[in-house]
Amino acid sequence: MSEITTPGSGTTQLSSKPLLPQAVTIGKSIPYERFLDCVHCGLCTSACPTYVETGDENDSPRGRIYLMRSVVDGRLPLTDNVRRHLDLCLDCRSCETACPSGVQYGRLIEPFRVEMHELALQNPAADSQPGVLPQPRKQRPDWFHRWIMYGLFPHRTRMRWALKPARLIQMLKIDRLADTLGLTRLLPAKLRRMQAQLPKLKAALPELPKFLPAKGIRRARVGLFIGCVADAMFRHVHWATARVLQENGCDVVIPSSQGCCGAIHYHSGASQPALQLMQQNIRAFQDEKLDAVIVNVAGCGAMMKDYSHIFSELTGQQGDHLAAAESDESRFCGQVQDINEFLMRLGPLKPQGRIQAVVAYQDACHLQHAQKIRQQPRDLLQLIPGISLRPIAEAELCCGAAGSYNLTQPEMADRLGQRKVGCLMDVKPDVVVSGNAGCSLQLQAKLKEAGHNVAVLHPMELLDLSYRGGHLSELT
Ligand code: SF4
Ligand code: SF4
Repeated sequence: MSEITTPGSGTTQLSSKPLLPQAVTIGKSIPYERFLDCVHCGLCTSACPTYVETGDENDSPRGRIYLMRSVVDGRLPLTDNVRRHLDLCLDCRSCETACPSGVQYGRLIEPFRVEMHELALQNPAADSQPGVLPQPRKQRPDWFHRWIMYGLFPHRTRMRWALKPARLIQMLKIDRLADTLGLTRLLPAKLRRMQAQLPKLKAALPELPKFLPAKGIRRARVGLFIGCVADAMFRHVHWATARVLQENGCDVVIPSSQGCCGAIHYHSGASQPALQLMQQNIRAFQDEKLDAVIVNVAGCGAMMKDYSHIFSELTGQQGDHLAAAESDESRFCGQVQDINEFLMRLGPLKPQGRIQAVVAYQDACHLQHAQKIRQQPRDLLQLIPGISLRPIAEAELCCGAAGSYNLTQPEMADRLGQRKVGCLMDVKPDVVVSGNAGCSLQLQAKLKEAGHNVAVLHPMELLDLSYRGGHLSELT
């Protein structure tokens, strides 16, 4: 027997020879060479937030790659313990940035977890019984996934309706009263957490129209992706993004038939709805003759740039019914650009309005690691007269938001959130800036918890404000 030594929490036992029939079902969509790219040098470990927090090798990129490969090889059963270490991964991909061997960690953990969750839905008992093949028994997702993750989050109209009473409750300050009286403790844990994460909601803005014309000489025609949760909670950021694009000579097309990017479903193993959403988005934009499809949410952008790869990964599992759409997918992926990336390529108009503020910029993982976009948002912010951008410590570490991670792994999300707030507040910022809706929610909640009254804004809000000549108090 061999084992992974875990400084923090014990060891994981490995058998020396393949023994488990489930080896033929888990990891089958992952080309095996991808595991072999890892030479176990360990240079990624200090960049991994979960390893930094726990000191457990099984919570490091190297350890997780070893665990996945051992399960695929049939040398390790997919026990609850193994599943726990893999589920604790934020999929932040900081390890990819740190790895000198070019290991594509995201392309290991993502399909592995999809299969792991699919297996759990088929037969939740199979993974804890080494040597037992999963039986094809259908298990419905739990209430949280059915009603909230799949039934609410991906639907922007339902989200908007769900936020109406929340707005009213905040306006009447009933939320504070409920907190004081302890009534929120009656909610199920995940709903209680969602309620605690809810920021102060801004007044509801009108929907973006289907088309907004460029100002001045037209330089490009772009589509704007508005998504689901982001449109319900951060529509003001979409409006700011559209105005910045118009100001920079772009016609902006906002197809109403677009939907959620599919990340919520894909990352929780619901492949079929994820595929449908991806197809819906490709169809929504493909006939618009666009120079680019612009995304202002890092997580959605990373997912959409990866559609082509995810299509082949998922359809490889499920048949070839989508093979015909392959060229559309690749074309679409080639068009997707983060707003910061697009503006710096286009050559942004210099904003003139002064905003006197110390800014701490938080790199969203799906921007800095997944899309390798670090410098562009900094360059854009520094164009604004009066902005003083301060570098923060541990900029490469995740804030703990990671999509729905702060609902599914609350303890680690809290630890990382508090750690990030410490790094941000060290530079005494007037505002914190982040390019991802999930990070903004997490940072707002953690800043508030720590007693800091600091607004969290999107780079486009500041840029738009400067173009308009507005005052910072409008946004804070
Ligand atoms: S993932 Fe890369 S950095 Fe980490 S152990 Fe493997 S080869 Fe080394
Ligand atoms: S994706 Fe992030 S949390 Fe997961 S192993 Fe890599 S660095 Fe660690």
